[in-house]
Amino acid sequence: MKIDVLQGDITKLDVDAIVNAANSSLLGGGGVDGAIHRVAGPELLAECRTLGGCPTGEARITGGYRLKARHVIHTVGPIFRGGSQGEAALLASCYKSSLKLAVENGLHSVAFPNISTGVYGYPKEEAAQIAVKAVQDFLATADSLHVIFCCFDDENLRLYRSMLGL
Ligand code: ADP
Repeated sequence: MKIDVLQGDITKLDVDAIVNAANSSLLGGGGVDGAIHRVAGPELLAECRTLGGCPTGEARITGGYRLKARHVIHTVGPIFRGGSQGEAALLASCYKSSLKLAVENGLHSVAFPNISTGVYGYPKEEAAQIAVKAVQDFLATADSLHVIFCCFDDENLRLYRSMLGL
């Protein structure tokens, strides 16, 4: 089991799977979702169209097409509405569902963006605590996985580094 933190553009990573913070249509959007589709190319959208969407907290896997990553795991984070609408459990479920799919597909290296902390408005510190705990809990049962937290902004980088002691 291994966890790393880095800062940068998740679309550049050479890993078995990058995770996409998608919306429930799986048909593309802004932020990291837009960046992933731009780099992966139209074949990714074509495969996503066959999936029929994805509920919040769940995950779906596709090919990576023109990305360096072999696969994209699309997960739908919760929109933050104050914290009393089950957001924390849904966000934890995004990380767990994504890692479960990775294991089921024989993948070893998985990179996550900071799900829900962009336009979905999740407070970054709470989101980072949930992400770290969900991944650590999962890794206790799957020791061949290498998880990378790919932070985009300085605040997330600082939070993940301090929570993981890196
Ligand atoms: P959400 O709708 O789940 O909030 P966003 O894409 O708006 O999704 O933001 C999720 C996180 O992804 C934010 O922390 C944002 O800064 C980050 N992000 C945006 N573009 C990229 C990228 N190319 N690589 C990695 N992270 C990114």
